[in-house]
Amino acid sequence: CGIVGYVGPQPALEVVVDGLSRLEYRGYDSAGVAVLADGKLDTEKRSGKLANLMTALEETPRSSDGIGIGHTRWATHGPPTDTNAHPHTDGDRRVAVIHNGIIENFATLRMELEERGCVFASQTDTEVTAHLLSEEMKNRGDDDLAGAMRTVCQRLKGAFTLVVMDTANPELIVGARRNSPLVVGRGEGENFLASDVAAFIAHTRNAVELGQDQVVELRRDSVTITDYDGNPADVREYYVDWDA
Ligand code: GLU
Repeated sequence: CGIVGYVGPQPALEVVVDGLSRLEYRGYDSAGVAVLADGKLDTEKRSGKLANLMTALEETPRSSDGIGIGHTRWATHGPPTDTNAHPHTDGDRRVAVIHNGIIENFATLRMELEERGCVFASQTDTEVTAHLLSEEMKNRGDDDLAGAMRTVCQRLKGAFTLVVMDTANPELIVGARRNSPLVVGRGEGENFLASDVAAFIAHTRNAVELGQDQVVELRRDSVTITDYDGNPADVREYYVDWDA
């Protein structure tokens, strides 16, 4: 339903939770975040209102490096429980994924992954993508998260915005989309990703809308957009001049 990503000098957790609160108007049934703290993946997710997630976040003192992603879920596959809330991770907990939309061929992909020994934690269609990304990097023998995303997206059917973080790439967020929106917010030494500009216009109004079947690599100082084959994409930057 709602997606936020941040990479920059600010503590990511606050920026991401603030972004999610600006997307609350869309309606949702669960919320969750993933950040890196001292290079380790830290996730928290709760069914119900964002306030539930915020209470859970306050229960344990935490720090976050300048990278994080957050999601508000409108459940389509699997009931709105804490476990089914996003982010979803792979078995090694190296990759954290958030997703809007529906992966129509998830059942087939899940069966294949289970045959190869993957253990699933949730009932969502989304979780297959975390396992596929992790498996793809393992098969390649590298940590090319964007390359893995390009390959994995070609195996997915349906509508999706996917945003992913990986412990082996502590300064990178990768996003992709098909039939579902994703917008980049370009700041000074910081960059944002969201399903809707409302999530980041308090920080920047310089936006780039991702085209169909494109992948973005987001770092503090760079935004690189390609198609699923890795060819550079035409980037259409615009200024958000309305109030929100
Ligand atoms: N299909 C996914 C799920 O049910 C994502 C739903 C959404 O767009 O929030 O978890």
